[in-house]
Amino acid sequence: MTVKTRFAPSPTGYLHIGGARTALYSYLYARRHGGSFVLRIEDTDRERSTEEAVNAILEGMAWLGLEYDEGPFYQTKRFDRYKEVIQQLLDEGKAYYCFCTRERLDKLREEQMARKQKPRYDGHCRNLNRTPKQGEEAVVRFRNPLDGEVVVDDRVKGKVVFQNAELDDLIIARADGTPTYNFTVVVDDMDMQITHVIRGDDHLNNTPRQINILRALGVEPPVYAHVPMILDEHGKKLSKRAGAASVMEYRDMGFLPEAVLNYLVRLGWSHGDQEIFSLDEMVALFDIDDINSAPSSMNPSKLLWLNQHYIKHSDRKHVARHLSWHMGRLGIAPSQGPALERVVEALSERAKTLVEMAQSARFFYQAPTEYDAKAYKKHVTEAILPVLKELRERLAALSTWTGEAIHAQIHALAEERALGLGKIAQPLRVAVAGVAVSPPIDVTLELLGQEQVLSRIDRLLNHAATEGSS
Ligand code: GLU
Repeated sequence: MTVKTRFAPSPTGYLHIGGARTALYSYLYARRHGGSFVLRIEDTDRERSTEEAVNAILEGMAWLGLEYDEGPFYQTKRFDRYKEVIQQLLDEGKAYYCFCTRERLDKLREEQMARKQKPRYDGHCRNLNRTPKQGEEAVVRFRNPLDGEVVVDDRVKGKVVFQNAELDDLIIARADGTPTYNFTVVVDDMDMQITHVIRGDDHLNNTPRQINILRALGVEPPVYAHVPMILDEHGKKLSKRAGAASVMEYRDMGFLPEAVLNYLVRLGWSHGDQEIFSLDEMVALFDIDDINSAPSSMNPSKLLWLNQHYIKHSDRKHVARHLSWHMGRLGIAPSQGPALERVVEALSERAKTLVEMAQSARFFYQAPTEYDAKAYKKHVTEAILPVLKELRERLAALSTWTGEAIHAQIHALAEERALGLGKIAQPLRVAVAGVAVSPPIDVTLELLGQEQVLSRIDRLLNHAATEGSS
């Protein structure tokens, strides 16, 4: 048996964290078993589905790097196939036309509620055995078994037993002939030969219905694994308002996809006490049986920790590619200045997010337009101006612009003037970065290049001459 999993989002909004986790688990399981991963867009609810949402899902999957082997399949393109299977069930007597009016069904519902019963269809048309006359409205219902039970042998929840007596005859086609949700899922899982369905546990109650329809079609149901929901950091249901729920928001906040994937895999799955997993490791280690059966809570500080880890340890070129996107958002063109990989290298020790890193990287590409008042006041003193002037000359005389050569000059001057290194490095930082924070000063100056450094020192000296120092 070739393992085949699917991610089957309804395109009614962005790709949210819960969906992305289900997609990841399905992807990992397929990869681990050398199987296939399918993307299926469940867009039959035409009122709520939008093209924008489809694009958001595709964008989210691409950003996370979750490549699918088949699809995307769109349910709206498969209506002929659904019609065919509805007809097959009707022909075999496994489904029937129901002519009950809305009024009758509303009344039935009210009566059942008044009797404190669960509202359900009473099978009124089950044995009518007739087809609609020209122009007559009818829905198609699945003839659910009346008794017995459906056992869902769920790989996460364990055995969950449903009584058929509790399940009524589900509408599989509306009066206009369009198929309903539970039915399209079944036909697709059957046609696409899905072997493992990993999805949110909000679908657990649909499963016995889907199993009954699959069996009526002569197909053995796939393995089901219903994953518990994700709670927010306070243990409440995750809502759009409570922090970021969309995957792309995490991109916007400056997270690397590796960090988000690593975070997602651990939201409900574990392997001993290991926290860091590369995608290859996840593929090698992931198993449905290790999914927690209890809900997991969001943990923003862990995500930050993971992000910092990946910023520090990932390939510089890779980080630079993502950083470049953030720089673009801040209006910085990283082509005009030092190689971004080197800036990444210089900044990777400190940045928790790529947004932070992009902000700290700005001065490498844009000269400061103003000086941080506090830093200026503290470090650009009357006494240091002649030292800076002297350093400027010595730096101008350097014929090889390397970190070592720069370091040697600063060091020598500090010794000669009996100054601590910081006394020179800090005003230099203010000159080149506008603030008193930067990577090591020799690295910073080397990356900026001789011309930029000299012109920025000149600018500070001019500024001090006109505006004064402290
Ligand atoms: N389309 C459903 C959803 O987005 C998922 C259905 C399924 O996985 O079976 O919630």
